[in-house]
This record gives sequence, structure tokens and C-alpha cells, in this order.
Amino acid sequence: MTKCPVCGAEVDVAAIKAQTGTTGGGAREMDPRAGTRQFHDGQWFYFDTIECRNNFTMQPDRYLSGQG
Ligand SMILES: [Zn+2]
Repeated sequence: MTKCPVCGAEVDVAAIKAQTGTTGGGAREMDPRAGTRQFHDGQWFYFDTIECRNNFTMQPDRYLSGQG
């Protein structure tokens, strides 16, 4: 488990990864109900909702600045 960098909610990384298993057709988008993720600055970040991911995408520094 990790935490959403935007709102601090716990995110089930295993569930998100399970959803993002690659398919032969190359489908990349996953069902967002269990969370989603974004690749940023060399690492994956996990979010509980699409809204959180969108907020992070717009202002990543705002959400990363407070993390050590
Ligand atoms: Zn969140």
C-alpha cells in the first residue's frame, strides 16, 4: 500500500498493477475504480482517483514538495 500524493488516501498498488497488465492489443488505460497511476520524474505515482491524478499532472511540484 502507498498513499495518494494529492489527498493522502491509501492506494492499493497491487490492484492497480493487476489492472495494468499488458494485453496483446496494447490497451494501456485501466479501470479507474480501484485507482490509477502516473509516471513522473522517473517513477510511478499512484492515485486513488482520476481527479487526483489530474491535479497531480497539472501541478506535480505542489504535491511533491512536502514529501521526503
Ligand atoms: Zn487522492
